[in-house]
Formats: sequence, C-alpha cells, structure tokens
Amino acid sequence: MSRPTGRLVYMDQPEKLEMREFEVEEPEPGGLLTEIVRANVCGSELHIWQGKHPEVKNGALGHEALCRVLETGDGVETDYAGQPIAEGDIVAPVYYITCQSCPACLDGEFHLCENAYQYWSLSPEEPPHFHGTFATHYYVHPKQYFFKIPDGLDHGIAAGANCALSQVLFGLDRVDLGYGETLLVQGAGGLGLNAIAVANERGAETIVVEGVDQRIERAKAFGADHVIDLTEQETVAARRERVQELTGGVGADVAAELTGVPEAFAEGIHLLREGGRYLGDGERESGSHHRIRPGVADAEEHRNHVSGAVSAVVSTEGARLSRYTRGCIPVR
Ligand SMILES: [Zn+2]
Ligand SMILES: [Zn+2]
Repeated sequence: MSRPTGRLVYMDQPEKLEMREFEVEEPEPGGLLTEIVRANVCGSELHIWQGKHPEVKNGALGHEALCRVLETGDGVETDYAGQPIAEGDIVAPVYYITCQSCPACLDGEFHLCENAYQYWSLSPEEPPHFHGTFATHYYVHPKQYFFKIPDGLDHGIAAGANCALSQVLFGLDRVDLGYGETLLVQGAGGLGLNAIAVANERGAETIVVEGVDQRIERAKAFGADHVIDLTEQETVAARRERVQELTGGVGADVAAELTGVPEAFAEGIHLLREGGRYLGDGERESGSHHRIRPGVADAEEHRNHVSGAVSAVVSTEGARLSRYTRGCIPVR
C-alpha cells in the first residue's frame, strides 16, 4: 500500500530555503512518526539561516516543536517518563539522541552524548527524510527522548519545552539557583524569558539587563522584578552600580549570560556578589572572543567580584547545555 507524502523546508545554503516533498515512511521499532502541531523559530534557526551556526550549515530546519503521534514503532508503549503513549497524543521530543553507549552517556552525562546530533538537520535525501520540524511530519528515532504533554497545557508555552526551557532549567540547576536568591538575567530573548519564568517558580528575584524596548516589555510581562535598560545605564560601571543598589550593595547571587554576546559574558562576572555563580548559556558564534579581567589586581573597583570564589559554568556553545530535558514543566 502506498504511503502518504509530506513536505518540509530544506536549506541548501544560507538564506536559501526551498520546500521539498517526500514519502512518509513507517517508524522503525522504538521510534515514532508524528505530525507537527506547532514549531517555534528558535534563535539557533536564525544563526543557521545566516550561516553562523557552529555545527549546522545546511539540511532540514526546525527543532523546537510539539508533535502529534501518528504511528508508534514496535515496542513503544510509554514516553520516557513512563506515561502511556498512544496515537493522537501530543509530545515534546528532544531533538538529539541519548545513545546510552558512548563514554559520556555511560558516565551519566547525557547532555554530552557523542552521538547526540546524529539525525539533527540531516539532508532530507536521507530516509526517513523528516529530520526537522519546519515540516508537516517529524520522525522521533529510538533513544530520542520524548515526553507527553499534559492535557490543557497551552501549546504556545509547551512548544518551547524541548529547547529554550530545558536549556535554561539545566543551566540554572547547574548553578543551583535557589529560593530567595537574586538572578541577574543578561538578555530577554527566548532564553531570558524562560529564565525569568523559572526564577519566579523558584522564588528567586530577577534583574534583567536588556536594551530593546519590545524585549523589556516582554520581560516585564513574564514577571521580571527589575529591569536595567542598556540605553539608560550605558556603561558597565553604571550597570554595576544599579545592580549594587538593587542587591543591598553586594551584587547578584547568580548571573546568567543568555545573549550570545561575548562582551556580555565578560561583563556579567562584574555584576556578581563575592562567591556568586555565573552561567554562560548564550549561544556564542564559533571563533568569537572577548578579553576578560579575572585577576584580583586588574581592576580595583571589581576586586571583590573577580575573586577565585566566583565559579563559572561555561559551555563553549549554549546548545551543548540544551541536550537535556526532564519533561514538560508548566510555566505560569
Ligand atoms: Zn532551539
Ligand atoms: Zn551517548
């Protein structure tokens, strides 16, 4: 019996997109065939489209999405949290593989799986063709975790669970953001907005540094406690002074760089309290660099804040931190 066909967006070279049509194949054992319910345009997609992404230069596009299960492969009875799964269910699939056999996986560091990107953005010529979510259909491979979305959860919120939200959750877990702490959020793009929401859930106070009006308004709508406008506080010293004012003169407990701008990473260290924790989670372009001054004697005004007690959790590119999910967490 002939199979239906579906369409997908393919990028052969930067800024050149075309629509392609392929037959929709049956899922292999352990996999799923899904149809796309909602696909977000992630910041990474813009980097890929512009030819600036460190790993992906062409192929099928799209990875942040919600999918409806059309067919389950042999052996698939539950999602990766153990919930029963059936045709028609809405799932959030992570977009990488957790192979469970490479050294990183065997050490329990699933986010560093060496085979993670085995299928991501492959050429659509390679079966089963539907490797990206800017498409009518999407294949979930064996060992590609997926999680059922609870009924009643807004699709607009849940569609970011497999990328932006999970990346932020993972990062803020790594720096152990806790109740009553102050989180400095550098950048109110997709990651920054999710960071504000997660901080609110954890009872942390947020200070957002942003310079684009639209993003500032969105940050406030997401519940940011304080905003430092880059167009008003134009220097690092001015921003540091404002952070000091807002934190009783000590600086932020935790800062998260979510812009991908190297200068922001260098700045964030100076906005922390002594012993604060710093998360570098923005997706910086490969090859980008910026001078930082980690030495105690380098800058008198920063002396206490560039001490050895500042711990940094830095990913060479933010996407590596995103290889993690613990299912869909409703964000109010
Ligand atoms: Zn993404
Ligand atoms: Zn692995």
